[in-house]
Amino acid sequence: MARDVIVVGAGPVGLMTAGELRLGGADVVVYERLTAPTRQSRGASFTKRTAECFDQRGLLGRLGGTEPADSHFGGIPIDLGVLAQDHYGHRGVSQFRTERMLEDWVGELGVPVLRGREVTGVRQSDDGVVVAVDGPDGPAGESAAYLVGCDGGRSTVRKLAGIGFPGTDGRRGFLTADVTGVDTRKRRIGENLPGGSMVMAMDLEDGVTRVVVHEAGTPPPHDRDSLSFSDLADAWQRLTGESLHHGRCRWMSCFTDASRAAAEYRRGRVFLAGDAAHVQPPAMAQGLSVGVQDAVNLGWKLAAAVGGWAPEGLLDTYHAERHPVGEQLARNARAAIELRLTGQDMDPVREVVGELLAHRDAAEYAAGMLSNLGIRYDLAKGDHPLLGRRMPPDRALTLPDGTRTRVGELLRTGRGLLVTCDGAAARAARHHTGRVDTVTGTWTTTPGTTPGTAPDAVLVRPDGYVAWTSPGTTDDLGQALERWFGSARRAL
Ligand SMILES: Cc1cc2nc3c(=O)[nH]c(=O)nc-3n(C[C@H](O)[C@H](O)[C@H](O)COP(=O)(O)OP(=O)(O)OC[C@H]3O[C@@H](n4cnc5c(N)ncnc54)[C@H](O)[C@@H]3O)c2cc1C
Repeated sequence: MARDVIVVGAGPVGLMTAGELRLGGADVVVYERLTAPTRQSRGASFTKRTAECFDQRGLLGRLGGTEPADSHFGGIPIDLGVLAQDHYGHRGVSQFRTERMLEDWVGELGVPVLRGREVTGVRQSDDGVVVAVDGPDGPAGESAAYLVGCDGGRSTVRKLAGIGFPGTDGRRGFLTADVTGVDTRKRRIGENLPGGSMVMAMDLEDGVTRVVVHEAGTPPPHDRDSLSFSDLADAWQRLTGESLHHGRCRWMSCFTDASRAAAEYRRGRVFLAGDAAHVQPPAMAQGLSVGVQDAVNLGWKLAAAVGGWAPEGLLDTYHAERHPVGEQLARNARAAIELRLTGQDMDPVREVVGELLAHRDAAEYAAGMLSNLGIRYDLAKGDHPLLGRRMPPDRALTLPDGTRTRVGELLRTGRGLLVTCDGAAARAARHHTGRVDTVTGTWTTTPGTTPGTAPDAVLVRPDGYVAWTSPGTTDDLGQALERWFGSARRAL
C-alpha cells in the first residue's frame, strides 16, 4: 500500500519528522536499518529553541530532569545570566533518552517504526517515490508520495538523490568516550591547551563522564575501528598529566571537524533533514537541535501537501528557510573550531572576541545564534519585532472564562494558531477551521515572561513562528491565512 510519506532513519530527526507529519494527519512510516535502538549518549545537550519545540508538543516534560547548559563560542564563555531573555539550553540528557521519548510519542500517534530495514534505492516520478528496502524478508519495493531522508551524515538518500554536500573535510580528529569510574576535574566547555590541543570532561547521568581529547596536529584516523580506549587515555595523560586508564569505557568514537551543508534540502519529492542535510563538529553541540528544528519546519508543510491544502510554493519554503540555518551552522562551526584550536597565533583574536562578548549586545547576538532564538524567517513585510521570529511558548494569556494558558500549550495540536484580543480577527479565520485554531484572550504579564511587544492579534504557524501580527504587518490577515494555510474556499 502506498503511504503518504516514508521517513528514512529513526534517529531523533526522523522520529520528530514522523511525529510532526502524523500530527498533521499524514500516513507515515519510518524505516530504520538498525534492529534495535542504540545506547549512545552523543547529543547530550540541546538548545533553548529545541527545548521550546519539544515544549510546544508537550514533550519536554517527558525527558525528565535536565540541567541548564553553559554557552560558549569556540571555548570563549558567554554569560547568559546578564541577558534579558532566557537563552539557556538543556544538558545531561543522553541522546538515547531523547530517541526513546520520541519513539514512544510516535508509537502513541500510531506511526510504525520498522526496524532492520535498510533503504538502498530511491526512484522518483512526477507523482511519487519508490524506495528499495532490504529487510528481514529480503529486498522489497515501497512507494509513497514523498520521502524524507533523515539517515545521518553519510545519508544514502542524499547520495541516491544526487544532492551535493559542499563544505570542508575533517582535518582534525577528536577522540571521545563515555567512561565510568573516573573523577577527573570537569571541563564542561572544554579547556584550551598550549599549541592548539583541547580536553573536555563533563558529567552525563549515572556516574558517566564524557571525555573528549584533541591533540594538536592529530588528523582524523584512517581506521576508526582500530582505535581503543587506551589511545584516548594515553593522549589525555600526555596533555593533562592525569590518568584515565583505570576507567571503564562504555562507548567510544572519533569525530572530525568536517562542516558541510547539502546544496538542496529538497529535490522534487525527496527532502533531507538533520545530519543528512548538515554536519558540523559535535563540539558545537548543535546537530541534534538544528535537526529537530528542521523536522518541525518540514512536518506541517508536507502534511499540508498530502492533505491537499498546501498553498503554492509552501514546500519550497523548507529549503528557503532552513538551508541558510544549515549554512550558518557550518560556517560558525568552522569559525569556532579555528578560534579554539589554532595555536598561539590566534591568542590576540581570542582576546578581542572575549572582550566583545563581554558587551551585552554582542553577547545577545551570539547567544541568539547558539540558542537558535535569533532565527528570523522572511514570512511577511512589516515592522513588528515578533514577525518571522518564534512566538515565545511561555507567553501567557487569560481566556474569557478566566482560565490561564500559554502559547506552548495552545500549539500542541500541531495546527496554526490565531490569538486575538477581540473578535474581529477571529471572524476572518472562520474558513480555516481545522488548519488554524482561534483563541480569544488577553495577554497576561507575568514576572519572568519573555519580554517583547504583545500584539493585539497574532498568527502563529504550526512550527511556532509568527506569520502575521496586528498591528505591525503590511498584509491583512486574509492574505496571511491564504499564504500559509491555503485558500479559504477549499477550507474544511
Ligand atoms: C560525540 C558526539 C556528541 C554530540 N553532541 C551533541 C550535542 O551535545 N548536541 C547536539 O545537538 N548534537 C550533538 N551531536 C550531534 C548529534 O548526535 C547528531 O546531530 C544527531 O544524531 C543527528 O540526528 P539524525 O536523526 O539527523 O541522524 P542520526 O542520529 O545519525 O540517525 C540516522 C539514523 O538513520 C539510520 N540509517 C542510516 N542509513 C539508513 C538507511 N539507508 N536505511 C535505513 N536507516 C538508515 C541510522 O541507523 C540512524 O539510526 C553529537 C554527536 C557526537 C558524535
